[in-house]
Formats: sequence, C-alpha cells, structure tokens
Amino acid sequence: MVIVLFGAPGVGKGTQAEILAEKLGIAHMSTGAAFRSAIQAQTPVGILAQSFVSQGKLVPDDVVAKIVEEFLAKPEFAKGCILDGFPRTRAQAEELDRMLSASGRTIDHVVNINVDDETIITRLLQRGRQDDQEDVIRHRLEIYTNETAPLLDFYGKKGTLTSVHGVGSVDEVNERILAVLS
Ligand code: AMP
Repeated sequence: MVIVLFGAPGVGKGTQAEILAEKLGIAHMSTGAAFRSAIQAQTPVGILAQSFVSQGKLVPDDVVAKIVEEFLAKPEFAKGCILDGFPRTRAQAEELDRMLSASGRTIDHVVNINVDDETIITRLLQRGRQDDQEDVIRHRLEIYTNETAPLLDFYGKKGTLTSVHGVGSVDEVNERILAVLS
C-alpha cells in the first residue's frame, strides 16, 4: 500500500505518518526529515538543501527526486510506504508516478489533512524548529498555497484523494485517517 499524507506545513503529517507506519507495519519517509539529517551531517545533498530549508523554500525537484528514489529502492519500502511531505509540486507528483510504476506500484490513497491557517501558525510557533519563525512559516504557507495545493485537483481527478479534518487530538485525527484507509 502506498499512502501519501498531504497538507500544509504543521497539519500533523509527520506525527500521523509515524503512527500509521507503526500500526500498518509499513515504512515511512519524510523528505523534510531526510533533508534535516542531511544538513546535520553536511552531506552533499545537505549542503545543497540548507539555504532552501532555512528560508522555507522548496528544495529543487531534481534533488528531492534523487533522495526519494533512494528511499523507494530500499527493501523495507517494497511492502508499502507512507510518504510525508512529498510530492509538493506537480513535477514531483509526475516523477513519483514514474518511479512507482517502474516497480509496478501506484498510489493507493492520498489523504489530505485539513487545518486552518491560524491553527497551523500557532502549532508551528509552539514547535519551534529552526524554520518555524513566523515570517518563514508564512512563506512556507504561501508556497504551499501556490505550488502544492494545486495537487489536490491533480489527485482529485485521479480519484485517490480523501480529505480529513485535522483539528482534534492526535488519536482522533488518526482514527479519521484509518477510516479512510480501511
Ligand atoms: P517538512 O519537514 O515537510 O516541513 O519540510 C521542511 C523543509 O524541507 C521544507 O520547507 C522544504 O524546504 C524542504 N522539503 C521537504 N520536502 C520537500 C519537497 N517534497 N520538495 C521540496 N522541498 C522539500
């Protein structure tokens, strides 16, 4: 099963992806976490991604595609996976389809987690990651609206998209997502 967790920064994709990966026994990939650890380790990808991540900009599609391809080739991803934070652009969505179809797979579910902007900003300010300052948050939300949200239409047309309400306890939101997957 291939599941894409979709939604703006701060809707809880990372938290939900971890819980779902555990419950469903499948692998989980967060491109944001992959970039943060690459930056920490100062790998070539990390050095390249650094300025984009700290300014809340999207890392270029070809760099993202390379790390996703490496993940998807790992044996633990053969059974299925939960993608968190990818795809974020139309080019990435098309690339993902190509990468999956190369191994005979397709996306089973795109779950869009919906949270209003003010709640998102409050949550992210509390989280306090390096890219969680208010001006950077607003920029990330703007990029989400302009570049990522149009994918809702793309996946809506494919018939794989379901939206869930993302305000509530972690367990409540998790139940809503599990209901979509069952
Ligand atoms: P996240 O942890 O998903 O909020 O991602 C943190 C940051 O990593 C983003 O603001 C981007 O700079 C970068 N990033 C993560 N995923 C992607 C992606 N799919 N495309 C481009 N940049 C990404």
